[in-house]
Amino acid sequence: FPVSVIMDVPFSKLSLTETEEYLTRRILSGKTTHVVTANPEILMYANNSPEYKGILQSADMVVPDGIGVVYASRLRNDPVTERVAGYDLLHRLMSQADQHQLKVYLLGANDEVNRLAFERLANDYPNAIFVGRHHGYFKDGSDIEAMILNDIAEKKPDILFVALGFPRQELWISKHQPQLKIPLVMGVGGSFDVLSG
Ligand code: UDP
Repeated sequence: FPVSVIMDVPFSKLSLTETEEYLTRRILSGKTTHVVTANPEILMYANNSPEYKGILQSADMVVPDGIGVVYASRLRNDPVTERVAGYDLLHRLMSQADQHQLKVYLLGANDEVNRLAFERLANDYPNAIFVGRHHGYFKDGSDIEAMILNDIAEKKPDILFVALGFPRQELWISKHQPQLKIPLVMGVGGSFDVLSG
């Protein structure tokens, strides 16, 4: 797919619908994909953190999550097509999970929010298969984290949504995706909070 490079980060120029179609094709063809939905806040943070910027640069796809990114691309005369918000993309992917009976795992937010987000999605997308969920309040390297990683490996979701907030979710995904090899993994920031409300 075509990209527009903003502050060294390659942003996808696909529209929301094209992104949905592209990612669905990748899931169904057995590829593994890490999607980052990057807003201006994330871009500024990346500018001061070489490690985080490296993760954005090596992610399989970075989508422009925020009108600020869209404007920046226009100023550079290399416009992205439109804003692709993480929350909208989550719903598009859930709709695909519903159509194709894909397995979904929800990681992150506190336990109550995680449960409410799961209930809302299970209600709205009845044919998606929810294989597991866990809250996001665990420490790196803890026994709980090891248990979560085992659970995800065992349940083999097609889609893993990770709501640990940035930058933690991208760091976590880039650290564990090489072992997990999830077809589609995406950090979703505060989306579970929105879903739960
Ligand atoms: N969160 C979490 N574990 C953490 C830190 C945050 O599960 O260690 C969750 C938090 O409960 C919230 C989400 O991550 O549901 C982050 O939301 P926020 O809107 O702060 O993140 P952003 O959209 O800025 O990435």
